[in-house]
Amino acid sequence: MLKSILLYLSRQKVIQDIMINFGVTRRVVDRFVSGEELEDGLNAVKKVNSEGAIATLDHLGEEVSEPEEAVSATEVYVNALDEISKNGVETNVSVKPTQVGLKIDKKLCEQNFTKIIERAKKYDNFVRMDMEGSDCTQDTLEVFKSLRQRYDNVGIVIQSYLYRSERDVDEILKLGGRIRLCKGAYKEPKEIAFPKKQQVDENFLKLMQKMLLSGIYHGIATHDERLIEKTKEFAQKNNIPKDRFEFQLLYGIRRELQHKLVKEGYNVRVYIPFGKQWYPYFMRRLAERPANLFFFLKNFFRA
Ligand SMILES: Cc1cc2nc3c(=O)[nH]c(=O)nc-3n(C[C@H](O)[C@H](O)[C@H](O)COP(=O)(O)OP(=O)(O)OC[C@H]3O[C@@H](n4cnc5c(N)ncnc54)[C@H](O)[C@@H]3O)c2cc1C
Repeated sequence: MLKSILLYLSRQKVIQDIMINFGVTRRVVDRFVSGEELEDGLNAVKKVNSEGAIATLDHLGEEVSEPEEAVSATEVYVNALDEISKNGVETNVSVKPTQVGLKIDKKLCEQNFTKIIERAKKYDNFVRMDMEGSDCTQDTLEVFKSLRQRYDNVGIVIQSYLYRSERDVDEILKLGGRIRLCKGAYKEPKEIAFPKKQQVDENFLKLMQKMLLSGIYHGIATHDERLIEKTKEFAQKNNIPKDRFEFQLLYGIRRELQHKLVKEGYNVRVYIPFGKQWYPYFMRRLAERPANLFFFLKNFFRA
């Protein structure tokens, strides 16, 4: 119930504007967001790199409705890729399709992704297309499939809560596509998504197995220790070396787990967001763990 309310609020633009303009930012959202500027993101990447992990940088923003906004978000990513190279840090980028125009025009979105992917290619870097709500799934996959025909440095995300995901995984693997597997962070109806955590977890394991057996390098994105242990066991049993896949975690969540995995010799990537449009991302993190809400409220009233 609380989760549903938080996910509903995450999509309310009016509340977003109030929260951002209220100046709540730093102390309250710092736990999940590296800062407002690219430099903050790069500093967080340096720290994560010094701890033996790699990263993916996310410029916060989504659901843009004006083409100019989509173009300027694209420029932020192109510039970020230049800076990543200049700074010699180990990170790729994660981009939300609706931030670069998916809901305005699919062609515009593909053009913007093309610019980002081309720049990444120049530096031998990689672009991950994040997956958003189910109203975007089909279009995101279509844009991805079209881009994948031209580029091998682009990957996609699959959410184990969707019934359709197994079929999508099969199709992406046929294209040789790299997948980040996660449970899914949006509010979805039971007609299209597994309603129970146990079902989502079972599907996660099923998809993880398919992905690891494909021989393609994929990302297993979860903080769920049970699923992480099952992934390790499956890889060991099937002689899949530790360097043939990676675990992915979100910035500020389960840091001790991140360190443990690095120590055990696994590839670990941390998803690091930066930017001013923190509200929807932050609300999804609250929804995942209601205890975060009390932490937030305590600091909100102190701010
Ligand atoms: C690298 C990465 C990229 C992602 N990209 C996408 C994407 O593109 N599209 C998408 O829909 N979703 C994405 N997600 C979010 C994902 O779908 C889940 O919503 C999120 O990871 C929580 O699920 P979980 O697998 O960690 O398992 P859960 O069962 O939710 O959590 C397991 C444990 O992790 C800890 N935990 C989980 N979430 C939090 C939190 N917010 N705060 C504090 N502790 C927490 C708790 O200890 C919890 O018990 C991504 C997640 C990661 C790690």
